[in-house]
Amino acid sequence: MFFDPTYLLFVALPGMLLMGWAQFKVKGTYQKYAQVESSLGMTGKQVAEAILDRMGVQGVKVEPIPGELSDHYDPSAKAVRLSEGIYGSNSIAAAAIAAHECGHVMQDVKGYTPMNIRASLVPAANLGSQLGPMLLIAGIVFTGLGGLSTVFIYAGIALFLGAILFHVVTLPVEFDASSRALRIIDDLGILQGDEHKAAKQILSAAAFTYVATAIYALLQLGYYLMLANSRD
Ligand SMILES: [Zn+2]
Repeated sequence: MFFDPTYLLFVALPGMLLMGWAQFKVKGTYQKYAQVESSLGMTGKQVAEAILDRMGVQGVKVEPIPGELSDHYDPSAKAVRLSEGIYGSNSIAAAAIAAHECGHVMQDVKGYTPMNIRASLVPAANLGSQLGPMLLIAGIVFTGLGGLSTVFIYAGIALFLGAILFHVVTLPVEFDASSRALRIIDDLGILQGDEHKAAKQILSAAAFTYVATAIYALLQLGYYLMLANSRD
């Protein structure tokens, strides 16, 4: 199927372009604002701690991790992990991203439903994104299996749906974390005036990478359904 012109033209090419463009946007916006100090000059670590403090959250650590844009909140370890360029930096980008990760802490504390659904879908997503397409291809290639090949195809699609669901439910989780972040940044006066607009730009660009991933997965699903349908 990877040599199928339909797949290349309508799935792989638009998917790669979209994801590449999203990555390009997020890196560009990040690099731009990673070089602009915020007027208050708080580091990513200080921003995260100030937000957790304001929220009255206790027992959540703020730790540095290696890598670029590898920032995340780990709910099982109760740790906000900030990348090297964020943790000790007093840039606008550092404040925005640290606040976003604290947005995930707020979701965890409040028991935000989409976040719980997303967490429960992780195993299904890992299995579905790999085993799903494999089963589907096996079903299509081994037509000699008769009825069994149909079972393979639909089992493959069902598994892949688990992965799709994960990507789709990631969207409200990410958008919500960012809107919580922007609100608390305002409340605490961490970023002022145009700095707030810059933070919004960074977080929107980051959110768009998840939109691109979800669209790519949906394109793949569309292709798989088309393959399944065009068999008989
Ligand atoms: Zn996030």
